[in-house]
Amino acid sequence: MASQLTDAFARQFFYLRLSITDVCNFRCTYCLPDGYKPGGVTNNGFLSVAEVRRITRAFAAMGTEKVRLTGGEPSLRRDFIDIVAAIRENDAIRQIAVTTNGYRLARDVAQWRDAGLTALNVSVDSLDARQFHAITGQDKFHQVMEGIDAAFAAGFDKVKVNTVLMRDVNHHQLDTFLAWIKPRRIQLRFIELMETGEGNDLFSRHHISGMVLRDELLKRGWIHQLRQRSDGPAQVFCHPDYEGEIGLIMPYEKDFCASCNRLRVSSVGKLHLCLFGDGGVDLRDLLAEDAQQQALEARISDALMHKKQTHFLHQGNTGITQNLSYIGG
Ligand code: SAM
Ligand code: SF4
Repeated sequence: MASQLTDAFARQFFYLRLSITDVCNFRCTYCLPDGYKPGGVTNNGFLSVAEVRRITRAFAAMGTEKVRLTGGEPSLRRDFIDIVAAIRENDAIRQIAVTTNGYRLARDVAQWRDAGLTALNVSVDSLDARQFHAITGQDKFHQVMEGIDAAFAAGFDKVKVNTVLMRDVNHHQLDTFLAWIKPRRIQLRFIELMETGEGNDLFSRHHISGMVLRDELLKRGWIHQLRQRSDGPAQVFCHPDYEGEIGLIMPYEKDFCASCNRLRVSSVGKLHLCLFGDGGVDLRDLLAEDAQQQALEARISDALMHKKQTHFLHQGNTGITQNLSYIGG
């Protein structure tokens, strides 16, 4: 079935990223260096389970196949399992994923899987416990590693790990990362550091293109794989000697936006057509009752016709995105 979620440039959106909270307990240098500060846009409170159910029902009816829960730190929601279960009610949504800092994994991951979670992305920027602490502000490296082991033990056959690539922080550590994934079914995804409204200095000090790694991987015999339609934007590489894979996410590369297949809804119910684009279209007034579903679908379709062809990051335009904890990266 062709997705109703098609924009003016014939891009189809099978993939929804849904933020369920802005709150985070980590203080990653590139995201929330001073920690989470309550207030601002979050005053009305975050989407309830019932609102999440209505949003995902509308998106599922329009063709969405995959939902990723993000934040802030999504696992800080006490009703996280109920949220997963509410999304699971939609047969059309075949994949339910979460992006997490891994803090609650060791304790909870088996229950998440029972509730219907099908995929996990865990953020790990360093395999050195002290450096991990310095980047995240939390001395939780070993807890996160135990969490990843617990995910495999709970039956996830693959885990994705997000690593923000930073010059002079981790860009020289490819060998260490490769040794880690050699015996493990981990897709380690290096994400190029993105410039946000709050992170200019850090960006100029630490941004480095993922091309550096791509060249290195190709030189070492890694092979570039084709992507599936509801995959994220990573270029994925594999190697016959490795159980794991490497992904590269390079938002500054030419044509990155041509393969965009995702839409975003913030934790207060605003539809964002691009991570870096816009002030968002409010959906919340249409989330109070099941009877509003048609109006909700109409508003989403209408908004999509206004999705721009590309972001304007190259011009230094960071849109409204002060930091990625607001709409979840
Ligand atoms: N708290 C969860 C976590 O860290 O996995 C989910 C939310 S976090 C905003 C989602 C992803 O965005 C993480 O993998 C994080 O590393 C990435 N991220 C945050 N700020 C970024 C930036 N300025 N550039 C690139 N990636 C960033
Ligand atoms: Fe929190 Fe994730 Fe941002 Fe780190 S990247 S501060 S874990 S929201």
